[in-house]
Amino acid sequence: MLSYAGISTFARAPLASLDEEWRADAAVLGIPYDIALGFRPGARFAPRALRDASLRYAVPPEGLWDWHTQTTLLQGRTLRDVGDVDLPSLEPQLAQARIQAAARDVRARCQVPLFLGGDHSVSYPLLCAFDDVEDLHVVQLDAHLDFTDVRDGTRWSNSSPFRRATEEMPNLSHITTVGLRGLRSDREAVTAARARGHTLVHADSVAADGSLGTHTLPRGKSVYLSIDVDVFDPSIVSGTSSPEVDGLTYRQVAALIRETAAHNTIIGIDCMELSPALDSSQLSALVVARLLVETLGVVLR
Ligand code: MN
Ligand code: MN
Repeated sequence: MLSYAGISTFARAPLASLDEEWRADAAVLGIPYDIALGFRPGARFAPRALRDASLRYAVPPEGLWDWHTQTTLLQGRTLRDVGDVDLPSLEPQLAQARIQAAARDVRARCQVPLFLGGDHSVSYPLLCAFDDVEDLHVVQLDAHLDFTDVRDGTRWSNSSPFRRATEEMPNLSHITTVGLRGLRSDREAVTAARARGHTLVHADSVAADGSLGTHTLPRGKSVYLSIDVDVFDPSIVSGTSSPEVDGLTYRQVAALIRETAAHNTIIGIDCMELSPALDSSQLSALVVARLLVETLGVVLR
């Protein structure tokens, strides 16, 4: 079917309900929530925009042949799209409870859930759905640390999801954040993350081919991958709440994900902070949709 025709589900995966019995290799859940943003709003529209853009990368039965790996991705793999979490738009604690419950439901039905945000605050309730995973590691691709204790009087903004997660989840061992840059970092957050032993990688430390030099990605771990689309340089992804210049290329981000997937078990993926109203060319959504389909391909290889 033509990529601009028909009803949008992620990569044209069959729509599935959490009220029914099914199993899949991967399942996509949208979380259209953005009231925790600190700057430009609109990430609530991202799940729909990503479904539309992902039709360009709809997965045919024979899979998608990939130039980079010279292999066929997603051949014989089952994907489902379970729609969006039904959210109370102005009740953060209730929203968190519903997000966490939906994430647990999706997790129980597939090997790898893919969560489409939403602002980055959503990663906290999502991570809580992985509280049974021993020695859980997070790889966060982001221009920002998101480890702030309190911002503008709240503990639940998109600046704090990983701080809250480390407080609430004794099983969350380590966070590797790659792509950090800018002038607005919260010094207390940087100190707190370093004190906890987290790996903080400045965007400048990522080589052109995506390798990290002296820094290392986890190996042999259960990894939750959290992608904040502002990790990308704004020249390719401008449609995001808080863009930061001098970001990563597609090649770097894709290589970081391939490397993470090759040496760990990816147990969940989220993609946050796409803001379709700021994406006038719709390039941001296309770039991110391709990244997510490619990510599913390398994770389910
Ligand atoms: Mn960010
Ligand atoms: Mn973030």
